[in-house]
Amino acid sequence: MNHLTIQAPAKINYLLDVIRRRSDGYHDLRMIMQRVNLCDDITITLNETSDLTVTCGKNGVPDGPGNIAWKAARTMLDLAGSKLGATISITKNIPVAAGLGGGSSDAASVLMGMNELLGLKLSDQRLMEIGVKLGADVPFFIFKQTALAEGIGEQLKPMPPMPEAWVLLVNPGVHVSTAWVYKNLQLTNQRELTKLPEFFSTVEDVCAILSNDLEEVTIPAFPVIADIRSSMLRMGALGAMMSGSGPTVFGLFRDKDTAEKAREALTEDSDWFAVTVKTL
Ligand code: ATP
Repeated sequence: MNHLTIQAPAKINYLLDVIRRRSDGYHDLRMIMQRVNLCDDITITLNETSDLTVTCGKNGVPDGPGNIAWKAARTMLDLAGSKLGATISITKNIPVAAGLGGGSSDAASVLMGMNELLGLKLSDQRLMEIGVKLGADVPFFIFKQTALAEGIGEQLKPMPPMPEAWVLLVNPGVHVSTAWVYKNLQLTNQRELTKLPEFFSTVEDVCAILSNDLEEVTIPAFPVIADIRSSMLRMGALGAMMSGSGPTVFGLFRDKDTAEKAREALTEDSDWFAVTVKTL
C-alpha cells in the first residue's frame, strides 16, 4: 500500500482555563477538548523520488516546509530512515487560524497515516510524544477521544462519555493571533477552578461547564464574537462560546433543525463561514 486518504477533524473547547504562565513562554492549561465532524481531507501517496511535497492551495496556509503537515511527514520519513518521498494534498475545509485546531489535526493525521504507510507500528503514545513537538494540540487528535487536557495540552485523560450535540460553528473571519491573545491575558492569582461533574447526561450538563478564559481578551477587541454568541442563544442554542483563542463561536443544540435555522438567520446578511456539525 502506498496511498491513503484521511479525514482530519476540527475541535472545539468546552473548557479552557489558563492556569499559569510558564518560564518557557507556554501556559499551563486545563481544557476539555471535543472533536467535531468538520474535516480537512488529506491524501498521502508515497513515491520513490525522495521528494516531499505538501500542497493545499489555501490563502494563509503555506505549501511545502512551512506547513505543519510537511513537518509531520518529514519527521516520520526520517524516523523510518526511509529514502522514499511523499506527495501530500490537503483540502482545507476547517477555517484557518480559527481556534478549531485545523493545523494540529492535519499534523496528527499525517503522523498516523505515515506510521501506517511506512509500516512503522509506532504506538499512539509514541506518536503523541512526537506530535507535541510539532504543536501542543497535536497529541489530542491522536488520542481520538473527548479529553481533559492539562499541561500545555499534552497531558490527556479521557472524559466520561459526553452526550452527542449538534454544533453550529460561526467564524466571522476577523484575524486573531493566538500569540497576541496569550500575551494580553491578565492572569489572576489563586482562582478557584470550576469543579467538574463526574457524569454528563444531557447537552445542558455540558453547557453548565462552558467557559473560556481567552474570551476576556478576544471579545473586547472583536465584539462581533459576543454578538454571534448572544444571537445563537436567542436562536435556541443551549449554550454558546468562543473556541480556543477564537474567533470561531460554537453553539450547542439538541436538534439539527434549530441549529440549521440559526445558521440560516446568522448568514442572511453576512459572508461569515457557518456550518452545522456533530460531535464525534
Ligand atoms: P492555534 O490556536 O494553534 O493557532 P488554530 O486552529 O487557531 O490553532 P490553525 O488553523 O491550525 O489555527 O492555523 C494556525 C497557523 O498555522 C496559520 O497561520 C497557518 O498559516 C499555519 N499552518 C501551517 N500548516 C497549516 C495547516 N496544515 N493548516 C492550517 N494552518 C496551517
